[in-house]
Amino acid sequence: MRDFSEAPFLVIWETTQACDLACKHCRASAQPGRDAQELSTSEAKALLRQVKRLGDPLMVFTGGDPLKRDDLLQLLEYSVSIGLRTTVTPSATPLLTAEAIERFKACGVARMAISIDGPDAQSHDDFRQVAGSFQTSIDALNSARACGLETQVNTTVTRSNLHLLADIAALVAASGARLWSVFFLIVTGRAQLDDDLSAAEYEQVFEFLYETSLIAPFDIKTTEAQHYRRYVAQRRKLDGVAGPSRSGHAPPSIARQAGINDGKGFVFVSRRGEIFPSGFLSISAGNVRDVELGHAYRTAPLFLSLRDSSQLDGKCGGCDFKNLCGGSRSRAYALTGDYLASDPRCVYIPVQLLTGASAM
Ligand code: SF4
Repeated sequence: MRDFSEAPFLVIWETTQACDLACKHCRASAQPGRDAQELSTSEAKALLRQVKRLGDPLMVFTGGDPLKRDDLLQLLEYSVSIGLRTTVTPSATPLLTAEAIERFKACGVARMAISIDGPDAQSHDDFRQVAGSFQTSIDALNSARACGLETQVNTTVTRSNLHLLADIAALVAASGARLWSVFFLIVTGRAQLDDDLSAAEYEQVFEFLYETSLIAPFDIKTTEAQHYRRYVAQRRKLDGVAGPSRSGHAPPSIARQAGINDGKGFVFVSRRGEIFPSGFLSISAGNVRDVELGHAYRTAPLFLSLRDSSQLDGKCGGCDFKNLCGGSRSRAYALTGDYLASDPRCVYIPVQLLTGASAM
């Protein structure tokens, strides 16, 4: 497992709050117009230099819709020019033209992520609350394929698309995407508690993802379902698999994600420059306008506590998987108000609690 005490694996920058979609679960509660306090072009370039000083993290431009910034291409180019592996997550709106995608490719962007939350126009557009969004997503994936830009598909799992996951997986395979990034709901922004799954349903989705990962032509990663790693470890043991998969090949995303959590290998910079452990855990450890990102990541008490698994409380604190998993700190915070509390959406009963033995 990698040591994330010095630098994150992933930096996500919320380029803007502006977006022309109105997704039901939107973390950012995105609006059509930009926030006047968003980082300026020069401040954004300064942020990218701060990220580069962290070493070689993956740099993700997200939003809102990054295409709502008229300096987006200039900033993507700058990010690539200073040596950052750069990816972008645009929204599927009329701004996402084939020409825009070709320009991403020309800038040197390594990958573009597109959201697909249903396997057809009806289910996806209902989620995104804009007619035509599904077709725009499909067109964008096709345009990327045509110009040789690598893609990933992002899907947020909720009660309304739980039964559609197999069809979405088939669509991901047909699109040629390299990665299916499956997000699990955090009740923040516009997301509602009723949209979330039960802990038992999380396990059902994990089983589906695991089985799919054995045969799919794409890699699978989860966001805010750290306990998928616990599920995978349990399944491998149960299946008598010495390596990480039946085929003997390590699923790359699982190997890379081991131990990563909010504030641990992961840092989020908001549109206004606030340094958060995650986009779903909006407690600030300072602002990149005033403090070096790396300094905040390494030394802020918030980040130090999130990387110290001995500070975890409740079931997660006594869990034999706490260093591999650790539970979603964002979900604990959203549902209990305590970011060190147990993840309420995990069914696992730690061995220590079953046997009364001391923690491993
Ligand atoms: S109890 Fe917590 S640390 Fe253990 S597997 Fe569940 S979420 Fe992960």
